[in-house]
Amino acid sequence: MYVEFGGGKSPYFELLQMRELAEIEDGKVSVVGPEIDVMREGKAYPLGILVEVAGKSMDQSVESALERRIHEIINYGEETWHIAQRDRGWVRVSKEGFRKGLKIRHFGTMIQHVLRSDYPDLVQKIQVTIFTEEGKVKEMLEKAQKIYSSRDAKLAYLADEEVNKFYSCILCQSFSPNHVCVVTPERDGLCGSVTYSDAATGHKIRGGAGANQPIAIGRILDGDRGEWEGVNRFVKEASHGETERVNLYSLMSYPTTSCGCFECISIYLPECHGIVIVSREFKEETPVGMRFSTLAGVIGGQTPGMLGHSKKWITSRKFFRADGGIKRIVWMPSDLKELLRDDLRRRGSEEGVPDLYDKIADENQARKLEGLLDWLKRVKHPVLNLPPLEH
Ligand code: SF4
Ligand code: ZN
Repeated sequence: MYVEFGGGKSPYFELLQMRELAEIEDGKVSVVGPEIDVMREGKAYPLGILVEVAGKSMDQSVESALERRIHEIINYGEETWHIAQRDRGWVRVSKEGFRKGLKIRHFGTMIQHVLRSDYPDLVQKIQVTIFTEEGKVKEMLEKAQKIYSSRDAKLAYLADEEVNKFYSCILCQSFSPNHVCVVTPERDGLCGSVTYSDAATGHKIRGGAGANQPIAIGRILDGDRGEWEGVNRFVKEASHGETERVNLYSLMSYPTTSCGCFECISIYLPECHGIVIVSREFKEETPVGMRFSTLAGVIGGQTPGMLGHSKKWITSRKFFRADGGIKRIVWMPSDLKELLRDDLRRRGSEEGVPDLYDKIADENQARKLEGLLDWLKRVKHPVLNLPPLEH
């Protein structure tokens, strides 16, 4: 390494912002502060990368997605290295890179080149300003942090009721030919890697083609079950007629389909009319008498009482709302429980069961059905007051 930036050793940020076409001097790269020639070998220096883009189809919802590309772009360079993102980014330039004449301003050239050629509709004009002067980096870093937080806040509070379109993902149709994920603000794809804004961005940056299509939700048929006319119509067509009806918020009645790459499986357990959740990482037997791998082999298409989903879905406000919601959860592996701890506590309180987290059993309390049933009685689990569910 010749010099490095960020990585906790010096102030760092990277930020992409949308501007009006007239505000941008296309192709401009400026460095505000010292260039690499005056930097000393082996040291860490402040760095801030501000990318400003304008284009007729550009809008704010895709800023983050384009900003994330900076990571790959800097890594594409043979003598440059990048990890993480936003104000946690970390960039290094190798000695060889310095010897060959790499300058800080070349980061700007690389970013401009790739974004312009990958997204011609979005990025019609682009300018990059790179800050290396410490005071200026710190000042801009504060502004960038406010922008990161406001982006996150928007994501955290968007509810399904606030939008009139959802998005599909059919990426998995290459091996699960009739599977459709319906992605909403409160329900991500079952693999856990496609959120609502990812799907919206996916649609936009491919110029309308591709696996993510908008679904006009149309007339609402049942808000609790999460059933809409437009969603049914879309799913029927995208599943080549196989799935005629889906309830986005139900495990028991017309649930969505499962391909193979779900992070978790929810299973209805009739003996206590609760829901057992198992995540892919948990290799042992669950209280339903099967392991994740066995269960995964049983699910296919639309299977009432069994559904593959993401980890995030568990703490969504819409989680199997039609079936009684989060109060139905009786068991999950301790690692998963720990991962979701804060959100589970918050959701429990929102549903009037502030100690729900402590009442959900894991493998330390119960490995078999009998043990689980004893535990539920002992802790007076709220599921005991809920009616059984019908398939
Ligand atoms: Fe898309 Fe993930 Fe669903 Fe596959 S599982 S269709 S990748 S959202
Ligand atoms: Zn899949």
